[in-house]
Amino acid sequence: MNLPFPKTRDVDYIEFQRELLRINHGILRNQISKDNAQIAYEKLLKDYKGKLFEEDLFYFDNLEDLTRELEVNVIDRQSIAECVEHEGRHARAAIKLGYNVSYSFVRSYSRIGEKLLIRIFPRIGVSHEGGLNYKNLFAIINAVDNPSPLDIEAVADIPIN
Ligand SMILES: [Zn+2]
Repeated sequence: MNLPFPKTRDVDYIEFQRELLRINHGILRNQISKDNAQIAYEKLLKDYKGKLFEEDLFYFDNLEDLTRELEVNVIDRQSIAECVEHEGRHARAAIKLGYNVSYSFVRSYSRIGEKLLIRIFPRIGVSHEGGLNYKNLFAIINAVDNPSPLDIEAVADIPIN
């Protein structure tokens, strides 16, 4: 695939993920009801309308397809290998716990001085009829040796027992 220049900015994508984590944490801590969470999700989507673009989000059937696309779009082979290893560990931990896993990446850009940089955020999504709980979230996120900043935020102040 020859991908066009992304429309989504790095900062918007990262901030959106943070907001999403806040809502998800609220649910896990029983601080937000399902109804209020739905309202918060809708508000979040509304707030980020015009900032996040669907055409920058790419879904893949499996980790191999995602890897192949990274190889077309990313020059640094070392970082591809590390990232595939990283997402693969999250995915395998989730599958082991009975979750459905989806594979995707988001492309975004940032401006550094005169330069425009494209960044790719590979990610896995997990879903389960029974929902997510702290113990499982913790296991999925901690399946990696080198958690990303968002991984760290995702398990920050989680009560473990
Ligand atoms: Zn991670």
